[in-house]
Amino acid sequence: MLKKYQQQTLAIELLNLHAKVKIVHQETGIPIKLLRQTYRQLHGQSPSRGSIKFSTRGLTGNHCKYKDVTIFAVCFQVASTKSTEGEIQTLMTAFNAYKKSYPSGQLKFSDAWVVAQDIKDKKIQLSKCPQCRSWVLLKAREDLSERCSVCRIHL
Ligand SMILES: [Zn+2]
Repeated sequence: MLKKYQQQTLAIELLNLHAKVKIVHQETGIPIKLLRQTYRQLHGQSPSRGSIKFSTRGLTGNHCKYKDVTIFAVCFQVASTKSTEGEIQTLMTAFNAYKKSYPSGQLKFSDAWVVAQDIKDKKIQLSKCPQCRSWVLLKAREDLSERCSVCRIHL
């Protein structure tokens, strides 16, 4: 019973962050229909039916978006290093840190979830520019132009 309670609490936390119902279902095992209903109760509107992006590359279409994703990746790395919690808790901590440190950031929780998966799977990689020491996110762009966005050198 405790486990069920924890899963329900987690589901509500995730829905509060506007996580996509599919993701919440995957993380908690709670039926989609019930999650949709709860989402409506929390937000007064139905959850969007848009699909989840397949990879980080689909999220970095322009320079601003790339910057958003990179800032989140830094928050996620910090949270992962410190964390003794489960993966989804770490992701929530990282997302809250991102929102706090960068309030104008446009990245949504479900996008952050995709980025976190790609970091864990080592599909993308956070690194530092050897010249100016700015954070760079490697293999994260569609055109694979691996350039530092600050000093513009090729990486
Ligand atoms: Zn640089």
